[in-house]
Amino acid sequence: MTNQLIEWCTSEIAGLKERHLFHMPKVHQSAVGARVIIDGKKVIQLSNNSYLGLSTHPKVKEAAIKAIEKYGVGSGAVRPISGTMDLHVECEEKLAKFKKTESCLLFQSGFTANVGVVSTLAVAGDHIISDELNHASIIDGARLSKATRAVYRHKDYGHLEELLKEARGPKSITGKILVVTDGVFSMDGDVADLKACADACEKYDAITMVDDAHATGVLGEKGRGTVDDQHMHERWSLTVGTLSKAIPVVGGYYAGPQIVKEYLIAKARPFLFSASAPPAVVAAVSACVDVLENEPQHHAKLWENTKFFKQGLKDLGFNTGNSVTPVTPVIVGDGAKAAKLSEILLENGVYAQGIYFPMVAEALSRVRTIVSASHSREDLQEALDVFKKCGKQLGLI
Ligand code: PMP
Repeated sequence: MTNQLIEWCTSEIAGLKERHLFHMPKVHQSAVGARVIIDGKKVIQLSNNSYLGLSTHPKVKEAAIKAIEKYGVGSGAVRPISGTMDLHVECEEKLAKFKKTESCLLFQSGFTANVGVVSTLAVAGDHIISDELNHASIIDGARLSKATRAVYRHKDYGHLEELLKEARGPKSITGKILVVTDGVFSMDGDVADLKACADACEKYDAITMVDDAHATGVLGEKGRGTVDDQHMHERWSLTVGTLSKAIPVVGGYYAGPQIVKEYLIAKARPFLFSASAPPAVVAAVSACVDVLENEPQHHAKLWENTKFFKQGLKDLGFNTGNSVTPVTPVIVGDGAKAAKLSEILLENGVYAQGIYFPMVAEALSRVRTIVSASHSREDLQEALDVFKKCGKQLGLI
């Protein structure tokens, strides 16, 4: 083995460490929930995406166990060869009904769903226009596509309209234009304005796509997502989402017209060339959709907790940005401070992840908090008390 690779990694990592950009994942020794065990210590968890607390829901666990008993552990192949079970088809039907779309197609993750959908639907001669704060998987999908690309300033739909005008005018794009936005932006917890986006897109015959990763289970009636929340079913083209957040298993999906699904089945490379989700996963996802449809109390509790915790942080004097969802950032100003805050929070029994450049601009470095329906009022009050103590210690409040 050449030393060159080892030396290169060593020097790169040293550089990352110097800039507080290297973090080994914290290892959890317990199930996803309001309190978790990290390094043998029980702490309040404010960093997972299981918004509704369904990871340990008895009906969800039972569905996964039964699926293993009947189908075993793997799907056997990629979907088009022999990796499509009745479980996959039923799950797609349930999700489509839940999202109120004509069809739905499962992918292995939200990441591969975005990469697959964006790179497959936008081809040479087409144009992709993306919000500057969109998720990495949308960016990677656009990079893989042979379409040209442009980026509009975050939620600046006037800028989006300028770019659309330029595309149809001086750039002479006669092909498809795909405009992509996150529904809830994962670092800030703010929400795209789908109406303003669609108003601009309709003028220039552009296709609209939303990544509902942080909105499904959170926004809209029973958590149907951003399109439902903003009453945009008639005016919105495509939705992509994950099955690893409010639906807390793993996987991703496309939701939209049946004919687009069929094209993705024929052409989307993650669908064609990577094995499908195992039976336990698919059965658990289906059970979660049933829970979303039939047990509205989780959704109600999520929002009750969100309001309490967000107001609590604001009252303490923290800068919580523009969040209107369960994702609430505590913006501290630089990477070193964010790392320190995250570290002392953990020492005091609260796990809230630090978020730094390149995920956000250095000056917007933060600790990101996410509450869930599984937190009790005591959990959240205790977390606020710890934030108060640590915030004072670092001179943030
Ligand atoms: N989109 C957004 C907005 C996300 O936050 C994430 C997950 N971090 C993804 C897509 C990818 O989803 P998955 O984890 O299922 O690959």
